[in-house]
Amino acid sequence: MGMEIPDPISIESVGTWSDEVDVVVIGAGMAGVSAALEARASGASVLVLDSGGRLTCTSAMAGGHFYLGGGTEVQQATGWDDSPEAMADYLGLMSPECDPAKISAYAEDGVEHFRWLESLGFEFNRSFYPEKAVVQPGVEGLSFTGNEKCLDVAEVVKPTPRGHKVPVPGDTGGAGLVVGLALDKLDALGVEVRWETGATAMVVDGDQVVGVTWKNYDHTGAIRARSVIVAAGGFVLNRAMLEEHAPDLLAVESNGMALGNTHDDGLGIRMGQSVGGVADYLDKVFVTGPFYPPGEALRGIVVNKLGKRFVNEDSYHSRTSAFVFEQPDREGYLILDSATMVQPSYRFQPLVDGWDTIEEMEQGLGIPAGALAETMAAYDEAAARGEDPEFHKAPEYLVPLDQGPWGAYDLTPGKCFYAGFSCGGLRVTVDGQLLRADGSVVRGVYAAGACASNIAVDGKGYASGIQLGEASYFGRRAGRRATAEVAQR
Ligand SMILES: Cc1cc2nc3c(=O)[nH]c(=O)nc-3n(C[C@H](O)[C@H](O)[C@H](O)COP(=O)(O)OP(=O)(O)OC[C@H]3O[C@@H](n4cnc5c(N)ncnc54)[C@H](O)[C@@H]3O)c2cc1C
Repeated sequence: MGMEIPDPISIESVGTWSDEVDVVVIGAGMAGVSAALEARASGASVLVLDSGGRLTCTSAMAGGHFYLGGGTEVQQATGWDDSPEAMADYLGLMSPECDPAKISAYAEDGVEHFRWLESLGFEFNRSFYPEKAVVQPGVEGLSFTGNEKCLDVAEVVKPTPRGHKVPVPGDTGGAGLVVGLALDKLDALGVEVRWETGATAMVVDGDQVVGVTWKNYDHTGAIRARSVIVAAGGFVLNRAMLEEHAPDLLAVESNGMALGNTHDDGLGIRMGQSVGGVADYLDKVFVTGPFYPPGEALRGIVVNKLGKRFVNEDSYHSRTSAFVFEQPDREGYLILDSATMVQPSYRFQPLVDGWDTIEEMEQGLGIPAGALAETMAAYDEAAARGEDPEFHKAPEYLVPLDQGPWGAYDLTPGKCFYAGFSCGGLRVTVDGQLLRADGSVVRGVYAAGACASNIAVDGKGYASGIQLGEASYFGRRAGRRATAEVAQR
């Protein structure tokens, strides 16, 4: 596994084809199954390849938040007003780098996409979970999963929950249920998913992609396809690519976990590059070491090694973590007093120590004398008035931290456990068509999911559910567009 970009194979050098189909899909995760279902529904003959086995994809590990809105049945049943415009405003604020056309489409089609997901054979619970959580422990269908309630955001866009959870309790397995249902449906429609068969290179006719080569243990072959959809996941498991593009993710090696499956090696991205496609934001990552739940932990303050705050502590967990990674020596501490002290539920952060005075705490954390005392005095004074003029933390989390003794949890990577995945991927149109640097389309090839760059640009703007939401939504669009192009040729 490395950085190699596999040379495309010329059509003339392919002797025989193992299969000839309208659309071949590389990858049977959330993006791939969605693309395959829509391509089939649009009348195409479809074949899906996957290097792994049934439900070994990253999607199958996921908790199962889908970021959906615009007035879904769950939002309506639980009394939340939403509109495509409000959803687009929020996503635009969080992902300003994203093509606004993609955000508008995703928001406009939010309710239709919600219904399409349910049509696979499950129902999101019509209930709301009000607590601050990473993933709600139960099966409540809706919760806030991003930065919507942070005051700096809420002043611009009305806070509305859009994290829809698949009705599977706990932190994992929800999206596995959805992909499993989609695979069953593909089976019922006669679409073959060929497991343990990895795509290895693009087959080209001039500048057009016309198929892929594949490998299954000792067997190899080539598939002729009018359209190829790459849905092969991200690159969090490819060390060479991380070193080159996304070194922040190396932090998960020393103490943490890569959020991915063994085939998250970036080959799909590199296959796209092999035919002239470009990739965007490969340096952007999602890293997280959540210190909530419990939500009460957000009453503390987070400071760097200089004793300065740098983020509103009630941010979404990957936003806080992204800011920790930007601090001097990446040092960060969560400070609580005796009245607010709680144990972070995931226990990712070691407790550094407890101290009777702020001066001792400064010494214990190696913070310059007086710096933390100054930060805390200013914070306490404003918090007593229910305000946070510097970072706009919401009033529900504002209390003066003046009840010693004090304690600090270590948020520094290496000491704190961080999990992460890559965010960047192939540059594509709203319909998943692969783009060159000059903006032209590479004919015959599409990309969706974690190997493409869509709405999830980085951890600062991310909300739980955007990856699965965009993988399924833009996967569907790619499936439809690929089939429409087949019909035109
Ligand atoms: C523990 C965990 C929890 C998460 N929770 C959430 C959540 O709640 N909400 C959310 O939005 N996101 C969540 N994520 C992120 C999300 O799961 C992924 O971003 C998303 O599943 C990516 O979907 P995908 O279809 O692009 O990739 P995948 O699901 O990884 O599918 C890609 C498939 O391609 C196959 N493949 C790779 N290379 C090849 C090749 N060369 N040839 C053939 N096949 C190939 C792989 O075997 C794999 O099956 C979570 C991730 C983890 C690990």
